[in-house]
Amino acid sequence: MTKERKVYTIDDLIDKTGKYITNPKDLEEIKKVYEYAKQKHSGQYRKSGEEFIAHPLNVAMILTSIYSDKASIEAALLHDVVEDCDSSTSEIEEMFGKEVGKLVSGVTQLSRINFSTENEYLIEYYKKIIVGMSEDVRVIIIKLADCLHNMRTLWALPEVKQKEKAKQTLEIFAPIAHHLGIHKIKSELEDLSLRYLKPNVFYDIAEKLNTTKLERDNTVYEMQQEVTNLLSEHHINHEIKGRAKSIYSIYNKLEKGRKFSDIYDLLALRILVNTEQECYLALGIIHSKFRPIPKRFKDYIAMPKPNGYQSLHTTVFGLDGYLFEIQIRTYDMNEVAENGIASHWAYKEHKDASQVFKNTTEQKLQFFKAIMELSEDKMSSEDFVNSVRDEVLNNNIYVFTPKGDVIELPKGATPIDFAYRVHTQVGESMVGAIVNNSIVPLSYELQNNDIVKINTSKNSSGPSKEWLKIAKCTQTKNKIKSFFSKNEKELYIERGKNSLEKELRKKKQSIVNFFSEENIKKICHELKLDGLDDIYLNVGNGKCAASTIIHIIEPKEEAPVVKNAPVRRNDADIIVDGIDKVKVNLANCCNPIPGDDIIGYITKGNGISVHRSICHNLSLLENRTVTVHWNEKTNQKYLSVVVIYTNTLENKLVDIIQKISMVDVSVQKINTINRIDQLVYEVDLYVSCVDKLNKLLQELSKLSCVEKVERVIQ
Ligand code: MN
Repeated sequence: MTKERKVYTIDDLIDKTGKYITNPKDLEEIKKVYEYAKQKHSGQYRKSGEEFIAHPLNVAMILTSIYSDKASIEAALLHDVVEDCDSSTSEIEEMFGKEVGKLVSGVTQLSRINFSTENEYLIEYYKKIIVGMSEDVRVIIIKLADCLHNMRTLWALPEVKQKEKAKQTLEIFAPIAHHLGIHKIKSELEDLSLRYLKPNVFYDIAEKLNTTKLERDNTVYEMQQEVTNLLSEHHINHEIKGRAKSIYSIYNKLEKGRKFSDIYDLLALRILVNTEQECYLALGIIHSKFRPIPKRFKDYIAMPKPNGYQSLHTTVFGLDGYLFEIQIRTYDMNEVAENGIASHWAYKEHKDASQVFKNTTEQKLQFFKAIMELSEDKMSSEDFVNSVRDEVLNNNIYVFTPKGDVIELPKGATPIDFAYRVHTQVGESMVGAIVNNSIVPLSYELQNNDIVKINTSKNSSGPSKEWLKIAKCTQTKNKIKSFFSKNEKELYIERGKNSLEKELRKKKQSIVNFFSEENIKKICHELKLDGLDDIYLNVGNGKCAASTIIHIIEPKEEAPVVKNAPVRRNDADIIVDGIDKVKVNLANCCNPIPGDDIIGYITKGNGISVHRSICHNLSLLENRTVTVHWNEKTNQKYLSVVVIYTNTLENKLVDIIQKISMVDVSVQKINTINRIDQLVYEVDLYVSCVDKLNKLLQELSKLSCVEKVERVIQ
């Protein structure tokens, strides 16, 4: 039964960690932590027969594969010393610092579960995970690595235990890994769980994969060669990989009634390129040679999944009539897809890891927190467990707003849940729903990729009690209930408080700190209001925006420049008549680019804002204008927004991208807008001058699917 696995030593760990943690002092400290843990665990053995220290060492090794930071690696080495040895948390804090101490105590707490009835045990578990997450997500990531190594050595346990652990892993840990976007860990956990839960199914699939392997390998290899040649002809630097499908994902598809022989993506390729633009270009080139299957094209670059995943997916008829699922993404996107967004950023930008983790998971935490708050009094234990299981951990669907924003909802969600998720006000003024251009009943069960439009009316009398039966999400039900249980004023006050809290959270501020006595006075004075509740009330009933309140205390900051944008708004781009040094901004209503006729507008306290002379916003501002010119030496690219109206509902993104790639512009973002009878694309791109842009507009209007192309002025 024993599997040959490499026995790791501390040198292996230092080797792998040293690849991304470069300070020798840090590595020395990791060694010291290891020596301590080894001494503490000496004389202890795992059920597998190994010395116990092999376990924490392996957990740390797993963490290096997702580039975890030094504190996480150290905490992984120490994660069992409090539970299994005589160390105390305070001893660890004293020896190795507060950060590591906190992580170790977090993991230890997670491991101390109270077994009683199954539900109670789950509640305890979920609560601990939630608390752990809100304090420091690294605790959960260490726990995931711990779980993974335990699963890898599960063969050493008796069968009953195996099944129990595998079930736990599949229900709790794999979904959490998915939510954090750590694909590597998620899919190994799933495969291992399946192997112990349903060994027959697992080995059956594995065997089928094996017997067809040779044939598949050859086909994949030939296809790989074809695609490589094709991309090289077009000078696209790339790497191409045949891709192994996980056994669990095949199992999932079989469960849904698909036949083994029909599963498209058994034959799969992944293409890695350098830039986002090359992704689209590669896609266009591949489609020009291999016919794509309609409706299998997915653009997760323009519309990333909520866990940060980005990639283009397409399925084409490849060689010998085999279907190939092809994924195209940049190296960076691949890193995120494999290791999770948090570890990627921490690693790439050498940021304080704990801060990055906190930021990227903030949205998810709010989900957890909302349920935690509910659980406190309003819900039975059973409801609590069910709602966590349904809404947080399992089976989410992704649907779209008409603008193309992704909304994540639990399976079984209805348009009511969608409306309330967009905004409570949308939910409360909802009168109907349109899904994929047809009117549906409010009880319609939303499906993946549905495009949902909510019809609202000012005259709506609010939700009906019937909706409580139709809504799926606990959050929705709670909002509906609170509509009925409170009188209006209270409701508005609460709503106002919520939106202020949300707005402040974006700025990383707590509502308590913000509303100091002094600040309340200042706001009330400015807006002629009467105390804190009155402020909440005015925000809640829509008379005053949350941001307006905040800006009274904190004057507006400039909008941050888009990350990665290949442009710096340099003062030297624009020459202002008669003035030497002055702050200059390009207006983001009309986005002027070199070659455009431009006029400067003198703002109050924010320098000169440059508009196109035809911008309608200027007519209001006439007497504060100043003459400006483009600096002819500028060689930057500038943002321009182009809207392409097609005459069809078919996805024409590929044709459009192909045209765009013929002109020297960089695409930043493409938004697909679904109209009733046409698709409209809004493209944010960077271009050096108006001549190039005009050439692009011309090229695009030559496409037979294009009805009209225009530059946007907002
Ligand atoms: Mn452990």
